Amino acid sequence: MSPIIADLHTHTLASGHAYGTIRENAQAAAEKGLHILGVSEHGPGIPGTCSPIYFANLSAVPKELYGVRILHGSEINVLEGGRLSLEERYIGYLDYAIAGVHSICYANQGKKENTMNTIRCMEASSKVRFISHPDDDRTPMDYDLLCRGARDNGVALEVNNSSLSASSFRVNARENYRMMLECCEKYRVPVIVNSDAHDPSAVGRVDDALSLIRSHGFDERLILNTDEKKLLEFFRLA
Ligand SMILES: [Zn+2]
Ligand SMILES: [Zn+2]
Repeated sequence: MSPIIADLHTHTLASGHAYGTIRENAQAAAEKGLHILGVSEHGPGIPGTCSPIYFANLSAVPKELYGVRILHGSEINVLEGGRLSLEERYIGYLDYAIAGVHSICYANQGKKENTMNTIRCMEASSKVRFISHPDDDRTPMDYDLLCRGARDNGVALEVNNSSLSASSFRVNARENYRMMLECCEKYRVPVIVNSDAHDPSAVGRVDDALSLIRSHGFDERLILNTDEKKLLEFFRLA
């Protein structure tokens, strides 16, 4: 299996609960041989995250650091009712948006409604490129429905390396990913493999996610971020 060339889900000091700067993360990405680093701070709803003006000033950041292309995203919360937690006028400043459920600002609505709320967020902004960690039984998903929504909206689904670590709070991620990957193959929905790093040491670290994908015998052509051209085309940044 090819190594990843991009990590599109990472956090910095600006998120309030991560510990590196953009430069430290970029340096770590360069050391790991990545071509692209996505900086994806949390949208409103996570305590301590940056305020929306952070996203409006991203043009201040160099487009390349340590030879690594820097893309700016935001991991925006899926809210009850299927709304995104960041207003579209701020999403407009981003290279891409991630939508994801976080239990800290979302009360479980049951499998069907959690999934519908996530699909409504795919529809809410044309910048949403993937769904972060749809893998947690605290807010369970209907994978068949989720994959059909992703297919219809041109959105990818993430396999999140942090969810698979022993210290993760997420429940039953491994088994949920097996179900998700099966549906991704059925509906030809691409997946993206990310670290969700909250420290520079974790940037580009996706070993657990890749070994799970490998053990599933998953069709590698559906992995977006092992191929720069495929990734940038999907992100409409080519
Ligand atoms: Zn997250
Ligand atoms: Zn994250």
